[in-house]
Amino acid sequence: MSTGKNPAPLWQHIPADIHRRLHHCLDQVVTKPSDGDGSIVFFRADDVAVPGRKLARLVDIFGKHQVPLTLAVVPAWLTETRWQRLLELCSKDHSLRCWIQHGWRHLNHEPRGSKLEFGPSRSLSRKRKDLQTGFQRLNRLMGDAFTPAFTPPWNRCDSETLNALQELGYQALSRDLGAQPPAPAAVTEYPVSVDLHTRKEKDGESGWQNFLKELRESLGNGFCGIMIHHQRMNNAAFDFLELLLSELKQRNPFRLIHVGTLLREGYVVEN
Ligand SMILES: [Zn+2]
Repeated sequence: MSTGKNPAPLWQHIPADIHRRLHHCLDQVVTKPSDGDGSIVFFRADDVAVPGRKLARLVDIFGKHQVPLTLAVVPAWLTETRWQRLLELCSKDHSLRCWIQHGWRHLNHEPRGSKLEFGPSRSLSRKRKDLQTGFQRLNRLMGDAFTPAFTPPWNRCDSETLNALQELGYQALSRDLGAQPPAPAAVTEYPVSVDLHTRKEKDGESGWQNFLKELRESLGNGFCGIMIHHQRMNNAAFDFLELLLSELKQRNPFRLIHVGTLLREGYVVEN
């Protein structure tokens, strides 16, 4: 979750020629010859648990375009009632959804500097307990629908947490591309490198330029993780997401997939 719920400046105004600019961006993607099946694209929606109107709209768009979606759920926010409602929202598209863990309570515990739920200000035993409580809660509520993958709030955590993930049986981790410290070998990383809704640029046009550059570069790298924050989305953001999904679907060199399938296939991201 980012600070505040207001849409980032780029969503205040979608450029009139955005369709053309998106085409141009996708046309410029140069994939490596080794990416025979095309670039992997995965969408990760964060801060999930409350089945509100915006989440319903998000899930609906992914269902309409038949695009897989990885949903990062904050365990402390999830209840049996909310889980049943989330299942109803996804009704017929269960195979297109992958549910993973997003922190425990999504709280910052650092008195200064970068926000961290799993950082140096807390003891290993407390962090370990939070991880385990979250894991057990999602397992109990979701059963087989839960994929043992972890995404730390604000995309970062410390090395004690990374080691605890391996020990507690998590199979995958999703942070920013290039995040440090390195993860243990047994925990596969599926990084994100494109941010749609929590961009920091003060003016919209810089936001658009940087977003399109991130998209072009990560698609060209062969692995493109795209972050979604539904609470920050407005109508413009929903409209653009529809455009993005339909453009990606129409193009051959992209393979849209969720984290559960990547894990099952044993997919490893090349550095
Ligand atoms: Zn978050």
